Amino acid sequence: MKLLIVEDECKIGDYLKQGLTEAGFIVDLARNGLDGQHLAMTESYDLLILDIMLPDVDGWRVLKSVREAGGNVPVMFLTARDNVDDRVKGLELGADDYLVKPFAFAELLARVRTLLRRGATPVAETTLKIADLELDLIRRCVTRTGQRIKLTAKEFALLELLLRRRGEVLPRSLIASQVWDMNFDSNTNVIDVAIRRLRAKIDEDFAPKLIHTLRGMGYMLDIREED
Ligand code: CA
Repeated sequence: MKLLIVEDECKIGDYLKQGLTEAGFIVDLARNGLDGQHLAMTESYDLLILDIMLPDVDGWRVLKSVREAGGNVPVMFLTARDNVDDRVKGLELGADDYLVKPFAFAELLARVRTLLRRGATPVAETTLKIADLELDLIRRCVTRTGQRIKLTAKEFALLELLLRRRGEVLPRSLIASQVWDMNFDSNTNVIDVAIRRLRAKIDEDFAPKLIHTLRGMGYMLDIREED
């Protein structure tokens, strides 16, 4: 699941991005309201986390633009001000939750999960499935033939991407940008290593094999007849 954080305080922004990435989410961080507004309007997110006090376009304005454009993505406000008026204004504008700084990361994470659960209306969308493999987006867990498989945050994000794009050949450059948030450098084997580890966990002891290598092209997840 993909989240956008708009936060101008570097420390808080970095801390949130790191924590949420480690929790298995794909996270974009905008450090000012203008960039945040642009990303919120052009990219597709499952949740927005907006600081209210931003130097240019404030959090209210970002939320207003999103709602006026018909976007119904869940929104959580972060603010240093524990002010009833702010809270009311945020809720009137269509914010879904409100967290006052300073907060414990564990609390933010719990609320993020609650909002995502609430936001993801059709139950089917919270689980991605292929053959007997299931990935639960809310509980962040993976099972195959009902057995729990422990994945790292990156492996989880990688598997989520493969599942969402099932049957498509995904070039390493796309995987690099979506899962590692980096430009693909052909000298690095980080993706191949991650795929190998993921395979060892989800494919090695099971049939049919789901992850396929297309030499010179990339990777694909699918059920293929010839296997
Ligand atoms: Ca701020």
